Amino acid sequence: MHHFSWWRLAWTLLLYGSILAVVGVVVGAPLLVLLVGALALVLWHYWQLFLLVRWLWDGRQFTPPRGSGTWQFAFDGVYFLQRKNLKRRKELGRLLKRFREGTEALPDAVVVINEEREIVWCNKLATHILGVRWPDDNGQRIDNLLRRPEFVAYIKKQQFQEPLIIPSPAQPMASVEVRVIPYTANETLMVARDVTRLQQLEQMRRDFVANVSHELRTPLTVLRGYLEMIGDDPRLDAGPWGKPHKMMTDQVGRMYSLVEQLLALSRLEARGETETPRDVDVPALMHKLESDSQALNSDKQHSIRFDIDNLHMQGDSEQMTSAFANLVANAIHYTPSGGNIEVSWKKLPDGRARFSVTDTGDGIAPEHILRITERFYRVDKARSRNTGGSGLGLSIVKHVLSRHRSRLEIRSTLGKGSTFWFDIPKDLVSGHQSVING
Ligand code: ADP
Repeated sequence: MHHFSWWRLAWTLLLYGSILAVVGVVVGAPLLVLLVGALALVLWHYWQLFLLVRWLWDGRQFTPPRGSGTWQFAFDGVYFLQRKNLKRRKELGRLLKRFREGTEALPDAVVVINEEREIVWCNKLATHILGVRWPDDNGQRIDNLLRRPEFVAYIKKQQFQEPLIIPSPAQPMASVEVRVIPYTANETLMVARDVTRLQQLEQMRRDFVANVSHELRTPLTVLRGYLEMIGDDPRLDAGPWGKPHKMMTDQVGRMYSLVEQLLALSRLEARGETETPRDVDVPALMHKLESDSQALNSDKQHSIRFDIDNLHMQGDSEQMTSAFANLVANAIHYTPSGGNIEVSWKKLPDGRARFSVTDTGDGIAPEHILRITERFYRVDKARSRNTGGSGLGLSIVKHVLSRHRSRLEIRSTLGKGSTFWFDIPKDLVSGHQSVING
């Protein structure tokens, strides 16, 4: 179809001109004939132009009218472009349809939002899960529709590594997990799923552990009480029941502390984040810890040194006590007799406060360090059992610290010793308050 060329145009013009010239010479009025011929040519071109324009603007047919001569090329060219465009449009339409069908088929709510956080599109499940309707809410700002403060803050903060769990705006008693995925320069995909069931299961697990620990405490208290009573009998040591009695007492004691720790953990999990922090007199706690650890230390005879700055902090005194005490008890337990243990609570140059416990003990191999704060994780099961360890201590510490916006750090060399430390954020540390308090 594409045979258009300059040559051809020039030839046609030349041929037309020559015919006119010949006719002009024959008739005897070459100028007049040439003028009339040129006029006819111009009219003819206008006519073709008219046809093309009429078809372009008013034409109802998809195919162009037949143009004649060189105009045919223009007509065909326009037609060709139009067909190409139509094909591309159809392809785009198909692609969009497939994308929408795909997102409709997802088991999650999908909302596309733009830079201004306005809704560009959403699937049907979004109505069910988030209460966002399509097309009614087209162009609405997402934070106007989902008004929970934690969601608004989450969207504003633009940090989407972690999903957010909020109560469902569409159904009472349901929870939704929201993930935000920026997928083009100016559009963001928000995916939400119903996690009610998961949350319920998690709650059931927590309740179960809490209830079991609670129910176990009473029988253990009774057992412990009677064992103590029996222990007071002077005949016991002479008879065959001396040793079994001691073992029973030890094991019941272990079970009791396990149950206590489990209860402590479930209390930590159950508490909301929004508790008002209180002043914690850390130097006073350290003082008490120092005298308590002497009792623990009676067998091992470590030298324990406390180096304490006069710093208070904001938080939960009971929780912090258990964190401090767990770390010190571990250092005593996992260091062979006659070791050195250093406990310090110091202000860092940047205003944070650091608690650290360094021992000259067994140390921990790197592969264990990552897992050591998991529940019931113990490096050497047999030895921990002897020390009465449950494997819950460090997970309690971890929980307590995360409630105080801090994190447990561990540096350890096998056979040489370990340092456990954590830093309390600056805004939770208060200076020499004990002076003011008297
Ligand atoms: P446990 O009640 O068994 O002490 P923890 O959660 O407190 O449980 O500690 C988990 C494990 O980490 C322990 O079993 C022990 O192997 C190891 N560990 C903890 N503290 C120290 C330490 N200071 N030195 C060496 N190992 C330690």
